[in-house]
Amino acid sequence: MDEVEAVVVGAGVIGLAAARALALRGHEVIVLERAYTIGFETSSRNSEVIHGGLYYPQGSLKALTCVEGRERLYGYCRDHHVPHARLGKLIVATSEDELPGVEKIAAAALANGVTNLEWLSASAARRLEPELCCVAALLSPATGIIDSHALMLAYQGEAEAAGAMIAFRAPVLSGRVRADGFELVVGGPGEDSPATIRCRTLINAAGLYAPALARAIAGIPPETIPTAYFCRGAYFTLSGRTPFRRLIYPVPVAGGLGVHVTLDLAGQARFGPDVEWIGAVDYAVDARRGDAFYAAVRRYWPGLRDGALQPGYAGIRPKISGPHEPAADFVVQGPAAHGIPGLVNLYGIESPGLTASLPLADRVVAALAA
Ligand SMILES: Cc1cc2nc3c(=O)[nH]c(=O)nc-3n(C[C@H](O)[C@H](O)[C@H](O)COP(=O)(O)OP(=O)(O)OC[C@H]3O[C@@H](n4cnc5c(N)ncnc54)[C@H](O)[C@@H]3O)c2cc1C
Repeated sequence: MDEVEAVVVGAGVIGLAAARALALRGHEVIVLERAYTIGFETSSRNSEVIHGGLYYPQGSLKALTCVEGRERLYGYCRDHHVPHARLGKLIVATSEDELPGVEKIAAAALANGVTNLEWLSASAARRLEPELCCVAALLSPATGIIDSHALMLAYQGEAEAAGAMIAFRAPVLSGRVRADGFELVVGGPGEDSPATIRCRTLINAAGLYAPALARAIAGIPPETIPTAYFCRGAYFTLSGRTPFRRLIYPVPVAGGLGVHVTLDLAGQARFGPDVEWIGAVDYAVDARRGDAFYAAVRRYWPGLRDGALQPGYAGIRPKISGPHEPAADFVVQGPAAHGIPGLVNLYGIESPGLTASLPLADRVVAALAA
């Protein structure tokens, strides 16, 4: 039987950030990832936006870690040569009715300490983005884009340089809490029979599957494990050149931020994600959803041509609140909450998890010490 000090389950951006944080503090770490590579799920199926921290309730973990994480991430990207661009974003009101929605975001942003927003009239917004149609817009200059894969490679590289190891094709199938730590049953590629690994510290960063993993480990109190809800967001890509140089966001909708324009670092535009509650993980993009995309995008970009949108990819928000419930906050659940020394569960790490990854990793370390 193998023994290691700390196991991190999941090599998404959060698991890698946590492994890096633990390894840099001198811990012996192994990351167990069931896919054959890093970032196989949500971490490579998102908008790749460095969020400003505008939307989240004051004092929430989402607000605190996003605002802190955004500036730390820009610094990290500069220091580690992770491609990124601080493009800025416009949140648009396309009619007078939508103005209160944008005003609400401005107020929430201010409460979160985001003080650099600028209101633009319709003509000022059009001077920045000539094809944009709106009655007013809010400019967030601190919002940007990032190559999320390069970020994960940087986290992985630093973690490995500090002694961490990553085992791929290593699904954690089950486990149990012991008096002195944890025993995990780990599958292997192909016909390999499962192996058992013991550890004193266990970080559950399994994303969409974090609640299911916690349930598969005997001894974790079931009442501390939230229900997982899956909320798919599809993207459509724009064929041809985009007229936009900044990110364009409408007023948020229930469950998501609305079908927005994001740009990748090559300047290609994509639109999304929409909101579709689903019962099981399924990344298929239904081309028929395109009709609703044309309607949503034309509210702020009437010049979108017929046939210009192609089905792209989908990501699934790892939610822990249902469609008719208030949005849940991030949960970094340590021993103080569940009573098991050495265990941290990360639940509901949806957007802005990428932006917040560095402070979230610090919260994992702090939760272990609490
Ligand atoms: C549509 C969408 C758009 C988003 N846009 C943004 C954005 O623009 N900006 C932003 O900041 N955030 C954004 N986010 C949020 C961000 O993508 C997530 O917060 C982040 O990627 C979560 O990372 P993770 O490591 O927790 O999960 P994941 O990336 O899903 O990683 C979990 C890993 O655990 C592995 N795993 C699961 N179970 C097991 C097991 N039993 N054994 C071993 N391995 C296991 C999986 O294979 C996976 O690799 C978006 C999310 C979505 C869904």
